Order: sequence, then C-alpha cells, then structure tokens
Amino acid sequence: MPVDASLLLDIARRFQVLGDLLSAVPYGTGHINDTYVVTCDQAGEPVRYLLQRLNTKIFKTPRGLMKNIEEVTGHIRGKLKRQGEPFTRRVLTLVPLADSGVCFLDDPELGFWRCYLFIEGARTYDVIERVEQAFEAAKAFGAFQSLLADYEGPSLHETIPDFHHTPKRLAALKAAVAEDPLGRARDCEADILFALERAPLAGRLVGLQAEGAIPERITHNDTKLNNVMLDDATGAGVCVIDLDTVMPGLSLCDFGDMVRTACNPLAEDDPDTSRMVARGDMFEALASGYLQGTGGALLPVEREHLVVAGQLLTYECGTRFLTDYLLGDTYFRTHRPAQNLDRARNQFALVRSLESQEEAFMGRIRNLV
Ligand code: ADP
Ligand code: MG
Ligand code: MG
Repeated sequence: MPVDASLLLDIARRFQVLGDLLSAVPYGTGHINDTYVVTCDQAGEPVRYLLQRLNTKIFKTPRGLMKNIEEVTGHIRGKLKRQGEPFTRRVLTLVPLADSGVCFLDDPELGFWRCYLFIEGARTYDVIERVEQAFEAAKAFGAFQSLLADYEGPSLHETIPDFHHTPKRLAALKAAVAEDPLGRARDCEADILFALERAPLAGRLVGLQAEGAIPERITHNDTKLNNVMLDDATGAGVCVIDLDTVMPGLSLCDFGDMVRTACNPLAEDDPDTSRMVARGDMFEALASGYLQGTGGALLPVEREHLVVAGQLLTYECGTRFLTDYLLGDTYFRTHRPAQNLDRARNQFALVRSLESQEEAFMGRIRNLV
C-alpha cells in the first residue's frame, strides 16, 4: 500500500533524523517490506536514512524481531569497536525514536516502522554480474556468521518458526494441493509431482541436524545476494543487511540459499527454462568466499553437504512458490498472473541442473581451503 508523501515525512520525523527533512520516497526492489529513503539537509549536506515499514503479515512478532536485530547489530558493533572501527559501515545502525530509546514505531494506524542509517558508497545488486561479486557476498555472509559465533546474549526469538524446515514446507504444499482453493492444481500436475518425488532430499539437512551431525548457529536465513551491500569503489562486501530472519539455524541453509540465487543464470521468474544451466563458476566462488568468511568454522560434514544444500534450498523455495501459487499468491508479491508458478518452475529447473552437475560441483570444491 503506497504511503502518502507528507505522511511519510511525519513518520520520519518520529525518528531521530537530524537536520531539515527534505524528502521521503520509495526505494529499492525489496519483495517483503516497504522501503523508503529519507533525505535531510544537515548544514547544507544531504544526509540519507533508510525508513522501512515492516510487513507484519509475514513477520507476526515484530517486537521480537526488532529485539533480535538490536542484539545482533549491538554484538557486532561492540566487536568492531574493539577492533578499532567505532563508526563502522559494516553493520546496520538502527535510529531510535526521537522521544525515546525505542528502535521502532508501532502504531495501530501507521503500521510498524523502523529507521536505519543509510549506508553510502555501496549498493546491492539484484542480478549478480561477476563471480567476484558472488565471492564477496558469500564472504560477507560467512563473516557475519563468524562475528556472531560467540554471541551470548539473550536467546534469539524464532521470527518465522520452522523457516527452513523443508519437510514441513513439503507438507504445506501437500495441504495446498488437497485444498486447491482456486482450482489451480490442474495447471501444475507435473510440478507437484516433481516436488513430491523429492521428499528424501527435503529431509536431508533436518535429518543431519536431528542426528547431531551439524550444529545450530546464528544464521541470516535470507542470504540473497541483494542482501549484501558491496562497496562502489572496491566491490568488497561492506555490510550484511535485511536482518529480519536472523535466528538460530543451519549454516548450510544460508549457503544453499546463496547457491539458489547466484547459480541461476536466469531471472527468478523467467518461464523459459530451456536455457537453465546452473553456473559452476558461481558455485565455486560462493564456496570459496563462504569458507574464507567463516574462517575454518565449518565442519567436514558441512563442507561435504555444500552441494546438496544448494539443491535443497532451491527445491524448498520452488516448493514455497508453488504452494503460494496454489493458495492464491498471498505470501510472495506478484506483478502478473501465474508469476509464482513461473518462479516455481524456474527453481525446479535449477534443481534439475544442480542435480545433474553434482559430481562436477563436488570436484570444484574438493581442493578449496
Ligand atoms: P526486503 O526485506 O524487502 O528485501 P531490505 O531490508 O533488503 O528489504 O531493503 C531493501 C533494499 O533497500 C536493499 O536491497 C538495499 O538496496 C536497500 N537498503 C536496505 N537497508 C539499507 C541501508 N541501511 N542503507 C542503504 N540501503 C539499504
Ligand atoms: Mg532484502
Ligand atoms: Mg527481507
């Protein structure tokens, strides 16, 4: 829902934004929250802030979510400060409300809002153009996780329960097929079958976790490459953003989701999947960056499952798109009819390609350090 420009300025004013407010306009290409950039005049210099309305249909416990973000950014900032980086761009900085130290605005009419300092001199890329970008983004996500490895604060809130519990995602698909409220299942029988046939894949990571073979850590859980800001001048990863889903989880889920986005040579909703060949060069760059960023913290069993993780997370996402298509596109925003079905087909085509190249991908990471 678009917000009126003068109302936006009123909302921005509720936060500790310094200087004269000049403008507040929609910003970026995020799918989930509504994002705006606010510009203020600070003694003749334009200074920007990032204002966001949280999507509370998806994030049903926004206060717990904000507490997570405060804890996690506070932990990282403390560490970077001790390393001599007091005013760092390497972690998001929440701007509190003007009249209290609270870091969000929760208003029955206006909705749930937060504000960040704008990270200048860096940007996100919706489409990864070069392997170096994949390497840098993966390294940043790996480093983010290792910065949080010694977090000992209050236990983090589970923002979306069972977010990467793939068997439950498959169960949700089965329920949607059974209900089929819009009669759409007949358009996608082959896609449903594809998902159902891969029940064993769905259970692999939760199975390893249940056996105690892979540990739970603090993970990002939305490691699309457009959630890392890359420096305009050097291309290096500057800051991991979009922390709504930070919570306990599996490293392999973070890695697999990167594979899903970076190894896809097509746009996520491209219906012409005849040209779908998963990019091995991107996979190698991601694995190399992630191993460097996590600094040797990954266990051998985690390394061995990097390839499977890519297949699994791509499969999980395709399953979610298909479920949402069947249920009437209530979760993922669509801009045209059947877009979620196209997204599901695109993801499943990527799964096929990742599966058929499994040996080659394993070979690419065997000798990485
Ligand atoms: P969504 O959950 O909707 O993807 P994000 O938090 O990722 O929302 O924000 C959307 C976009 O806004 C990002 O892709 C990025 O380009 C930009 N952005 C987010 N936070 C900042 C920030 N602190 N500084 C500059 N740009 C930002
Ligand atoms: Mg985002
Ligand atoms: Mg997000």
